Amino acid sequence: MIAQTQTRVLTCIQCGKCTGSCPESGRTPFNVRMLMRKKQFQNAIEESIPWYCTSCGSCTIRCPRDVKPSEVIIEMRAALVENGSIPVTIQKALENTFVQKNPWGRSRAKRGAWFEKMDIEIPHVSETETKRLLFACCIQAYDPRCMVIPVNVATILKKAGIEFGVLGEEEACCGNEIRRIGESGLFEELQEENRATFEEYGVKEIIALSPHCMNALKKEYGDLGIKISHYTEVLAPMFTYGTVVPKGSYNKKVIYHDPCFLGKQNGIFDEPRDILKSVNGLELLEFSRSRDNSLCCEGGGGRMFFEVEATYQRNAEVRVQDAVNRGAEEIVTSCPFCVMTLEDPATEKGIKVKELSEILMEVL
Ligand code: SF4
Ligand code: SF4
Repeated sequence: MIAQTQTRVLTCIQCGKCTGSCPESGRTPFNVRMLMRKKQFQNAIEESIPWYCTSCGSCTIRCPRDVKPSEVIIEMRAALVENGSIPVTIQKALENTFVQKNPWGRSRAKRGAWFEKMDIEIPHVSETETKRLLFACCIQAYDPRCMVIPVNVATILKKAGIEFGVLGEEEACCGNEIRRIGESGLFEELQEENRATFEEYGVKEIIALSPHCMNALKKEYGDLGIKISHYTEVLAPMFTYGTVVPKGSYNKKVIYHDPCFLGKQNGIFDEPRDILKSVNGLELLEFSRSRDNSLCCEGGGGRMFFEVEATYQRNAEVRVQDAVNRGAEEIVTSCPFCVMTLEDPATEKGIKVKELSEILMEVL
């Protein structure tokens, strides 16, 4: 793997397409093209630099030589993890994930708290006929702001007559961010644990609530023989073909923010938009940087767990200002990482951030 990466880096022609598309390069001390140059010559790299990368994937999508710069950066981080030269908060997130299977170290026994308070009964996946699993995600299982998302999606699926079950405390972190932090050993442990649980209960289909979980389960767990979708892919046909009809209307100008792990990395651009277009009264606006040009919110790649040193206008602030300039009343997205990063600057500007399911709950 290391030899392969080094070979790929040697083919870099220093065209700069990676830097041109990178949300960090040019505004911070980070420059992905220069980083690839240093790697080619095996020059020393300052330890703080690889942590700027948000794992948005733009560089890897644009690179004409298949260098996969985002993967090269993961390898650089892996060397830092091995030496123990990593930010303290990242270290803590790794330790927490090792012990409690979530980066915040919240009790594993509480992972099912989001559905235990619901009015409707949610079965364990083993008790379902379809063996269709709703995979919650660490943020949505524990964070008070995001816990409403699985509750909403579960309610909507129930209304639509879709059978599903959950794993509760048997669900472990998907490991998407853990792999990107460079802790491949811990990622493999999480992967093995989740795989074994899926096998034990004969899981046939997974509806992931977070694009990050969907990405890991779909692309980084090997062939599970399980159909894996993001929840917007499941809901879009129901809303488009009228199986589910929003009764209320939503008379607001709403702008959709594409999450990197849903959009540019997995090509899911239309489904969330199709759902929003089915809502009466909703005026859907677009950012000038949308779809595969969408500006990363800077929540991925471990950036959720620590603050970089450089002072610069954060992408979330830029994004909120863009939304205001476009005349949006609300920013809607379909990823808990984006909700978390956009919400603070949005509150400052007096504009709301909604996760897509929150709008649906208001109109169904
Ligand atoms: S886009 Fe690819 S080839 Fe061009 S500078 Fe970046 S890594 Fe090198
Ligand atoms: S993954 Fe995104 S943030 Fe990281 S180097 Fe590539 S373009 Fe920059």
